[in-house]
Formats: sequence, structure tokens, C-alpha cells
Amino acid sequence: MRVLVVGGAGYIGSHMVRLLDRAGHQVVVLDNLSTGFEKAVTAGDLVVGDMADSALVESVLKKHRIEAVMHFAAFALVGESVENPAKYYQNNVVGTLSLLESMRRCGVTRIVFSSTCATYGVPEVLPIRETSNQAPVNPYGFTKLVCERALQDYAHAYDFGFAALRYFNAAGASPVGDIGEDHDPETHLIPIILQVALNQRESVTIFGDDWATRDGTCVRDYIHVDDLGAAHLAALEKLEPGKGLKINLGSGRGYSVREVIDCCRQVTGIDIDFEIGSRRAGDPPELVAEPVLAKELLGWTPQYDEIQAIVETAWKWHQQHPSGYNS
Ligand code: UDP
Repeated sequence: MRVLVVGGAGYIGSHMVRLLDRAGHQVVVLDNLSTGFEKAVTAGDLVVGDMADSALVESVLKKHRIEAVMHFAAFALVGESVENPAKYYQNNVVGTLSLLESMRRCGVTRIVFSSTCATYGVPEVLPIRETSNQAPVNPYGFTKLVCERALQDYAHAYDFGFAALRYFNAAGASPVGDIGEDHDPETHLIPIILQVALNQRESVTIFGDDWATRDGTCVRDYIHVDDLGAAHLAALEKLEPGKGLKINLGSGRGYSVREVIDCCRQVTGIDIDFEIGSRRAGDPPELVAEPVLAKELLGWTPQYDEIQAIVETAWKWHQQHPSGYNS
């Protein structure tokens, strides 16, 4: 299939580009490089531009006779979305609506959309099923929920076929170690812990140890970035006009912040320092997926089923690229 990967120079998008290429798809990447890297694009053509630039998007869709879009171009930091919601609504909502309109005008109606467990807010029941109530507790989650709703309405009214894949915590890197996670500033747990191991930081701050969880720290479901990609490949084959799939992508196992630090200590063999800080605004205490629907509908289960194996790939990337893509 001819696939446009919007946000294909970013962390998850760049891993997706590689997997699409390996699976025999033709890939075109559209990325404004606001947080992505040219070097991260290892296959296909790269068009530098914004998804809100309708003229550009429509010319790319037509020129490359695109059959489906994968949309990764979003800001995705919970804390930042609380501090600066305008940035999130503008890009994640306005930008996505513009992309959908460009697709509609060009008759491209298949899309795999990156959604998130943040649309569930503080879950009433764990693990989280797709039918759980969606009540986001931060602007980031809300922007993704708005897009899910727009997709549903586009499916109903304009015969779009979509998959909204609700990621839990993306982590790890391509096993070769040549592409990986690079954010500036870094805010994600595993890269921060590994930066301590690399002596780039003194310690990692745990955001609260007084949550009602097994050790008082937040619990998350970490999923390898290539496993996310594999689920997208499967979803691409299942898109049907007028229908929408909404599927959790998680392992079904949660790890606390303390457990993640312990795992990183084991993988690196380094005694990583931490301190206890205050809670971060917008954080739910525990997010763990019920992953059965992904298995049922996509035939998908994560290949990296232990956090240790995920951290090993991240560690390889960070060791080889201590300053990310500028190394
Ligand atoms: N976290 C932390 N210290 C940090 C960064 C993250 O304790 O320096 C916690 C955070 O509160 C959350 C988990 O680690 O419970 C994962 O956070 P991350 O930002 O990686 O992903 P998110 O869950 O926000 O998507």
C-alpha cells in the first residue's frame, strides 16, 4: 500500500516507517521537524511541512497516490499540556481536523490514528477495557478524545475507515540501536533514568510516592515501540469504509516507577540515584491495558513481553547515541 506517515520523523513514527518499508509498503513521510529528526527517517521520501498546510498535504496525497494515512504528528506530554493547553489544541485538534479535511478532499479515507490511554483519565476499573469510560484528566488526553470523536463522525458521514490505537506507554528502541527516543527536554521516565546511568543527570525524581498503588509510585503499562508498529501494520489491513476500530495497545502488565528504576539498574549494572518529588499535575495513579481486543481483532500480542527486554533496547540506543541524533 502507498502510505503517508504524518509525523514519521518522530519517535514512534520513525519506527513505523521502518516496519512499513520492511513489510513492502511504499512510504512517504510528512513531518514539520518541530520535534522529529531527518536522520530518523530510514526509508521512503521525506516531505518537510505541516499537516495543517492543506495545499501541501493535498499535493502530497495526489502526487504519491496515497491510499492510507498513519498519523503520529502530535504533542504528547501530559505535564506540558497542563501548562500550555493552547499548543495542544492548536496542533493536535486543529492540525488533525485540517489533515482529515485534506484527506476528504482528495478521496483518501483510510487512517490509522495514534490515540492514547490518557483518554480514559483515572480509570474506574483496572485493567482498562476499550469500553471503559473516557474522561481525560489532562488537555493532552482530551485533544486525542476529540480526534477520536471526529474520526467516528467522519466514518459515519463520509465513509472513512479508521483505527484509533490507544497506546499505553511507548518505550524502547529499534533493536539495532540506530533509531530511538530523543526529546529536548526529555521528560519520559525510561530515557531520564538512562541519562542518570550515563552520568548526564545526578538523579531521577519520582513524581510522588504517596499514590494508592502497591509501592506508592505511579504504575504504567510499557510497550515496545516496534510492538506498537506491528499493531499498526495489522490495523492497516483491517480498515473498512464506514467502520472504526478503537483498540488498546498495551501488554496488560503494569510496572511502578520504582520497579522501572530497579529494572534499569539491573540492565545497566549501574546504581541509579533517585529522589522523591511531588506529584506531577495530570498524572493518573495507574494505567494498565486489558489487551484482549487487540489479540482478537488484530491477532496482535506484544513480542517484548518483559520490561527488561524493552529497557535493553533503549539502553543500547542511549549508549550509542548519548546526545540523541546529534551524537
Ligand atoms: N515519572 C517520574 N519521574 C520522571 C518522569 C516520569 O516519576 O522524571 C513518572 C510519571 O509520573 C509517570 C511515569 O513515570 O507515572 C511515566 O511517565 P512518562 O512521562 O514517561 O509517560 P506518561 O505516563 O506521562 O505518558
